[in-house]
Amino acid sequence: MQICPQVKDEKVYSLNEYFSKRLNENKILVTTRHGCWLMLDDDEYGQLIHNTFSENKTLFDTLENTGIIITKQNVKQIVNRYSANYLFLKTKNILCTINITNRCPLRCTYCLASANPPDFTGSDMDEDILKSTSEFISELPFEKISIEFQGGEPLVRFDQIQQFLTNIDTRMANFKNKRIISRRIVTNLVLMDEDIAKYIMQEKIGICSSFDGPKELHDQQRKYLDGAGSYDIVVKWVDYFKERRKRVNLLPTITRLSLQYGAKSIIDEYIKMGCDVFLSRPVNPIGRANNKKDIIKAEDFFEFWKDAIEYLITLSEKGSEVYDAMAQRMLRNMLTPYRPYMCMRRPCGAGISQLSFTCDGSIHACDLSKSIPEFKIGTVNNSCQEVLLNTLELRTRSTEFYPLCDTCVFSPYCHSCACRTFSDFKSIVGQTPKSFDCKLNKMMFTYLFEKMNDAKYRKVFENWVYMKR
Ligand code: SF4
Ligand code: SF4
Repeated sequence: MQICPQVKDEKVYSLNEYFSKRLNENKILVTTRHGCWLMLDDDEYGQLIHNTFSENKTLFDTLENTGIIITKQNVKQIVNRYSANYLFLKTKNILCTINITNRCPLRCTYCLASANPPDFTGSDMDEDILKSTSEFISELPFEKISIEFQGGEPLVRFDQIQQFLTNIDTRMANFKNKRIISRRIVTNLVLMDEDIAKYIMQEKIGICSSFDGPKELHDQQRKYLDGAGSYDIVVKWVDYFKERRKRVNLLPTITRLSLQYGAKSIIDEYIKMGCDVFLSRPVNPIGRANNKKDIIKAEDFFEFWKDAIEYLITLSEKGSEVYDAMAQRMLRNMLTPYRPYMCMRRPCGAGISQLSFTCDGSIHACDLSKSIPEFKIGTVNNSCQEVLLNTLELRTRSTEFYPLCDTCVFSPYCHSCACRTFSDFKSIVGQTPKSFDCKLNKMMFTYLFEKMNDAKYRKVFENWVYMKR
């Protein structure tokens, strides 16, 4: 920290640590470690760096309000805001992802689990591991536990899902201070039937499914072993649940092929399906997607995402409330002290807010890491303490200790995915400027901060921050 005590109207102040970047010819973005920011023009920035703002009351007050200078009046506010950024480390919530099977009737081009065909033997969770998994989860030192079934395709073993839910409910009955707060199945919907659908609705289990956009695009990427596409069956079941007022959360994966179709055509398809959230997510080079055909460059994804935002802004001017969840997560980090989304903060949620349980009883730090042996942090036969101790290295991935990020203007809001980093650099510490996340984040944050100067965008962005679906 630079210590430059000055006196102004009997106020003593020190300069706080700050980071800056020129956004355009008129504005310079200034951010602080505790996450406050402001934009200055050249004259104001000159006064800040030359420490000559003490006679400029307006500028002095703005610098005090944002904590760029520290005074007796704002020091508590700065400390509180900084600690709010890291409140998630004290979380009492955890997401447990259970991979009931690694079999799947589809063979999607970008499958991160590299799922096996349905007739493959030996890739389901057996009875003993299923039981040990529910026992392990019930022992975790967290009060609120969310359960998510993944795979493979979890409905291949719907019987095991039911068995697991019975097991965990029985176990949890022993603990007064813990509870399961949500249950969700991530399914491609191709094995859905009336009985399963009724059970899901009765038990209030959430459903999440992949949906890549226009039929031609979806069918090329999400197909059966014989090459037939799965678009029609997804639409059928989404409509079925919609008619019964049950929401199916849909997620696209943006690949090189998606770029050819463009953001507008994919968003239009989402609107046609009745969705009000769009989450532009680039494909991860993990599992079957680790090939040159699917992987996209940060620059190309950024252009796609920017087109998506511009289109959604146009729609919002016509009264639409559809928003981009990726932008929402970034805007929440920029406009609030909290970091609610586990993949958009540092350290990320791997091993802190999420654990992934695989068919053979292994525990990985998060679901994206289930195909990466180096992310195995134990097994269901270890104690919770042993497993959680193995997350220490992941917990050091905070901005303050990360090369180059420690002094970056976007660091208070940025993230880096441990899995993606490992996949690219074979280390959980990436070569920052070369990493996909860094290149992309720099472009996206620059865009969002620049647009905050435009009243039309700012109004929509501020609305998106508080939208909840
Ligand atoms: S990843 Fe890149 S953009 Fe993000 S804080 Fe680090 S240097 Fe900045
Ligand atoms: S490793 Fe990546 S996917 Fe896993 S929790 Fe962290 S950011 Fe999210």
